[in-house]
Amino acid sequence: MIENKLLNYFKSEQPYRFLGKSIKNLFFPVKDEINVTKTISIEVSSICDVKCIFCIYHLGYRGEKIMMPEEFRKLTKSAVNLGYDYLDLTPPSGELFLNKNAVEIVKIAKDSGFKHIGAYTNGISLHNHNLDELLRSGINVIIISFPGFGKTFYQEICRADKFEEFTESIALLLEIHKKINSQVIIIFEPRTYLSIKQIKESDFYCKIVSKFIKDIVFVREPLRVFDSWCGEIKGKNLVKGMRVDINPIKSIHPFKNAYPCIRIFTMGVLVNGDVRLCNCRYDKTIGTEKDPLFIGNIYNYKDLEELIKENDEKIERMRSGFCNGKMAVLCKKCPFYRPVKFS
Ligand code: SF4
Ligand code: SF4
Repeated sequence: MIENKLLNYFKSEQPYRFLGKSIKNLFFPVKDEINVTKTISIEVSSICDVKCIFCIYHLGYRGEKIMMPEEFRKLTKSAVNLGYDYLDLTPPSGELFLNKNAVEIVKIAKDSGFKHIGAYTNGISLHNHNLDELLRSGINVIIISFPGFGKTFYQEICRADKFEEFTESIALLLEIHKKINSQVIIIFEPRTYLSIKQIKESDFYCKIVSKFIKDIVFVREPLRVFDSWCGEIKGKNLVKGMRVDINPIKSIHPFKNAYPCIRIFTMGVLVNGDVRLCNCRYDKTIGTEKDPLFIGNIYNYKDLEELIKENDEKIERMRSGFCNGKMAVLCKKCPFYRPVKFS
């Protein structure tokens, strides 16, 4: 029985694909074409309205909190003074538009001087906001993560009955986008077991979404392989062929010493004011001093500039440690690793 399983595995293309991806990862790291050191992420909501099977949110390691516009304004001003141009409003786990001030928050970011503002959203609660104002707020890109256009996929993958609310939001967003000739890029990113063909055959796609598809409104290829959130999400949590990434070079940490991860050069602020390197992945140490990517809490400093200045050496140590044997435990376990080679 086990022999048969192994035989089938080796007959399949899987091992070669993993090997190919691993070699590519190690020997062909991305160049720093996007200036990562100019990117900051700020989380203004750690609350979500669904519990996706591939996301750490449902494990409940963090409190549920919303950031107020006044706190956000102080942060963005300081971030722009530090030279940050790109703002990512995607929470590591949470939904931006569950903050009722989300549109005002984007406007504040634009007024503060950010050149590019983008965010991932599950799109469900968009209809609670003034979408005309959102599309004129200064946001450049909205990426909508969804499990497929159908009620069943919401129940299976997002574990919530939210399809109707999602369709209401998306139909409204696309209509207003067209009506005002908005130049905001809208990307649909499926996280599912479905193929792109199946997604494009669904009723909602055929009757609504397809009417608005153009160069700046499009659907990406579905994502079916998910990183494990540093080992917190297991293959058994996923369904119907969705898999966790077990790419060896990303999973065996000594291989990662060759190149640092591009994400260690970005910085993020959590809704409770904790400032972290990377800030796209965490484990159960989040919110404690044991979190290896934690730098300091903004509320213990005058502003972000002071926090960075006083922790300059610590940040440098954390970054250089990636390749000199002192890689953070979180990074050792993280398959979201993306090697970078600076020119
Ligand atoms: S919508 Fe986003 S934050 Fe919420 S559970 Fe899904 S992946 Fe996590
Ligand atoms: S390895 Fe993972 S946790 Fe570490 S910086 Fe990269 S993405 Fe972040």
